[in-house]
Amino acid sequence: MVSISVTAAGGDESPAEESPVDDPSVEESSGGESAVDGWPAPVTGSEFDRPGAHRYAECWAREVARCGFVATSTAESQRLLLAQTVRLARAVLAEPFTPQPGYDIGRALVDAHLTEPGVLDWSVRALGEQFRAVVLPALPDATTTPRIAALAGALSAGFAGALRQRTLSQQERIAQAAWEARDRVERALRDSEARFRAVFVDAAIGIGIADVNGQVIDVNRAFADLLGYSVDELREINVAALFHRDDAAGMWELYQQLIEGKQDAVRVEKRYFRKDGSAVWTDLAVSLIRHDDGRPRFTVAMVEDITERHELQQRLRYQASHDPLTGLPNRTLFFDRLGEVFATGGPDDRVGICFLDLDGFKAVNDSLGHDLGDNLLVTVARRLADCVAGQGHLVARMGGDEFVILIDHNAGCRAVKAVADLALAAVAEPVQIGEHRLSVSASIGVVSGPLATTSVAELMKAADVTLYWAKAEGRNRWVSYDPARRAREQTRSALIAGMSAALHRGEFVVDYQPIVTLADEAICAVEALVRWRHPELGLLGPDEFIGLAEETGLIVDLGRWVLARACEAASRWHRDFPEARLVVSVNLAARQARDPAIVGTVSEVLRQTELPADLLQLELTESAVMATAGEPLPALRRLAALGVRLAIDDFGTGYSNLAYLRRLPIHNLKLAGPFVEGIRSSDRQGLVDGRIVDALVRLAHALGLTVTAEAVETLGQADQLRALGCDAAQGRYFAAPAPEGEITGWLTARARRRRDDVA
Ligand code: C2E
Ligand code: MG
Ligand code: MG
Repeated sequence: MVSISVTAAGGDESPAEESPVDDPSVEESSGGESAVDGWPAPVTGSEFDRPGAHRYAECWAREVARCGFVATSTAESQRLLLAQTVRLARAVLAEPFTPQPGYDIGRALVDAHLTEPGVLDWSVRALGEQFRAVVLPALPDATTTPRIAALAGALSAGFAGALRQRTLSQQERIAQAAWEARDRVERALRDSEARFRAVFVDAAIGIGIADVNGQVIDVNRAFADLLGYSVDELREINVAALFHRDDAAGMWELYQQLIEGKQDAVRVEKRYFRKDGSAVWTDLAVSLIRHDDGRPRFTVAMVEDITERHELQQRLRYQASHDPLTGLPNRTLFFDRLGEVFATGGPDDRVGICFLDLDGFKAVNDSLGHDLGDNLLVTVARRLADCVAGQGHLVARMGGDEFVILIDHNAGCRAVKAVADLALAAVAEPVQIGEHRLSVSASIGVVSGPLATTSVAELMKAADVTLYWAKAEGRNRWVSYDPARRAREQTRSALIAGMSAALHRGEFVVDYQPIVTLADEAICAVEALVRWRHPELGLLGPDEFIGLAEETGLIVDLGRWVLARACEAASRWHRDFPEARLVVSVNLAARQARDPAIVGTVSEVLRQTELPADLLQLELTESAVMATAGEPLPALRRLAALGVRLAIDDFGTGYSNLAYLRRLPIHNLKLAGPFVEGIRSSDRQGLVDGRIVDALVRLAHALGLTVTAEAVETLGQADQLRALGCDAAQGRYFAAPAPEGEITGWLTARARRRRDDVA
C-alpha cells in the first residue's frame, strides 16, 4: 500500500521561492525552497503544490531506501527525487504535453543506480494513486489523470530501456576485459615458450628432458655434443644407458628417489660415457617436474662438462697425497689410510706397520751430496714398493729417510715380521749410483696388534719407540714392539722427571747397614744406603734410580744430601757412643767423584756436622777411581788429605787391577758379592772363588789395605771369610740395612752390655 503523509500539507507553509529544484545539478540551499519561476503556464493556470512535492519526494526517497541498497546518501537521493517530482509536475502542467520527461526520469533513476525492482514498482504505483493528490491537488482529475498515466508508462519504458542498456554495456565491458586477459595470457605463454626455446636450444650448458621411465624426450645441442651423439640419437635413448659403471655408489639410488618423487632435485658430479666409449666428467643437476596433482612427470637434467676441472682436481689431490721425489704415498695419505683401517675395522681385526729408517743416511747425504742422496731414496722407495708389490700393503714415505709399510689385512705378528725381513733384504742389496756403489741398511720398528687395544697415535708412538730400539740395538735389524719394555722405559722417564722435586719434597731416606769386624763380630762401621719413598711406586731401592740420577747429573745433589744425612747421623752416634768409633761409609758415584766441587763439599759437610774425618769412609767403584785414560782421579789424594778413608766398592767386578792400587791412597777393599756368594758352595767353582778371595786378601794386606766382604748371607760364608783372613764383613747374615734409630738401638744395647760387663 502506497501512502504519503499529508500532515505537513497546508497553504500557509510556503517554500522558499529561489530553490532551483528543476535542476538537480544545482545545489539546494539548506532548508530552503526551490524556485519555480519562469515555468510555462499550466493548463488551468494553476501551480503545483510545492510543499506537497517535497513530501512526495521525501516519501519516494524513503521507499527507495526500503527497497534495498542505495549507493548515494539519503539527502542526495532525496534531492534527486525532488527534482524528478518537480519534473513530473511540470510535465503534467506543460503545454503541449509530452510524456518524454517520464522516459527521461526512468533513465535518471537507473543512472542514479536506483535499479532495485521495488523502485520502479513504487514509482509507477505512487504516480497513479498519490502524485496527483499530493503534488497537484488543485487540478481536476480529468485533466491530469491521462497525462500522469502516460508519464508513468514512459517512466517504465525509460527505466527498462536504461536498465537493459546498462546491462548490455556491462556485459560488453566484461567480454572486453576477458578478451584482453586471454590475449595477455596467450602473449605471455608465447613469450615464455620463446624464451624457453631460446634457453633450451641455444644454451651452452647441456639440457635434457626425460620421462620418469628414463626415456629421453628432448635434449639440446650442447647435451648432444657433450656426449658425442646427435640430438635425434639421444631422443631414442634411455638415460640408464648413459650411466657410468664406475659411478660412485648410491648414484642410481639418488636418481630412483628423484623419479619416485621423494626428491625434487639432485646435484652430483658424475661421469658419462660418450658415444666413442670415452668418459666425460660432468656437474649434473636434475630437477623433477610434477603433474598438477604432484605425480612425477619429467626430469630435466642440466649437465656441464667439468672434465678439465676434475682432472686438475685429481692432479692436485695426487700431488697433495704423494711424495714428489719418490712418487710414493706421503704421510698424509698414509694417515688417511690408517684412519680408515681404524674406522672400518671390526673388534677382532688387527693392524701392523713396519716403520723403517735408513742407517747412516745423513752421512751419505753430507759426504756424497744431496743429488746422490735423492737418488738413493728413489731406489730404496722403488725396492720397498716392489718387495711387497701385489700384496696390497701401502708403502709410504714419511719424510727424510723414513718409510712406512702399512699391513692392514688383519695380518698377524708373523706376517708383519715377514714383511720387515723382505724390506731389510730389499734395502741390503748394494745400490749403484754413478760410480758409487753404496751398501745401505735400515732399522725397522715392527708393531702389530688388535685395533681394539690401540689407536692411531699409540700405534705411531710404538712404531717410533721400536725403531729407536732397533737403532740402539745396533741397526740393520728389525725389533718388535714390547709393551713391558716400553712400560719400564716410561717408568724410567717418570722417575727421571720426578726425582729432583722428590729430593726437595723429602721423599728420600737413608738406611744404614752394619759392617762388622769378623774377629769379634762387633759393629765397626755402617754403610749409608739411600732409598726413595715414592708416593705411587712405593719404596724404591737405589738400583732403580741411582743410575738414572747419574745420567741426569742429579746424583751430585742427591749424593751431597746423602753425605750430609749420613755425617749428621754419624756425628750423633759419635757424640753418644764415642768409644764405638763408628765409621759411616758413604757411596760416591763416578760422576760425583769427578765433580770439581767434591772435595769442598766433603770438607764442608764434615765441618758442619763436626764429624771427625777418619769416621767417614767414601766408597768408589774401580771405574770411578780411574779417571780418563787410566789416570787415577785427581780428587782422590785431596780427599785422602782431608783425612777421610777411601774404599774400593764392589772390587772384582771391574778392572780388578791390584797394581794401580799401590799408587792410590786407598784404605779398604770391599769384595764384591759374587765372590762371596761363590765361596758358599763346596763344588769346584766354590773352591776357585775361595782361592781367589784368599789371594785377594793376601795381596790387599800386602798393600796395607783392609778387606771387607759384601753380601755375607750365611754362617759358613762368615766362617770361611774369617779363616781366609778377611777383616770385616757386611751382609744380611749379620744385619740388613736399617733406619738410623735401629742402629742407635744396637749401639745403646752394646754400650749397656759393656757397662754391665765392666760392672
Ligand atoms: P753397594 O754399595 O754394594 O751396597 C751394598 C748392597 O748390597 C746394598 O744394596 C745392600 O742392601 C745389599 N746387601 C746387603 N746385604 C746383602 C746380602 O746379604 N746379600 C746381598 N746379595 N746383598 C746385600 P742396595 O741398598 O740395594 O744398594 C745397591 C747399590 O746402590 C749399592 O751397592 C750402591 O752401589 C748403590 N747405592 C746405595 N746408596 C747409594 C748412595 O747413597 N749413593 C750412591 N752413589 N750409590 C748408592
Ligand atoms: Mg757400597
Ligand atoms: Mg758394594
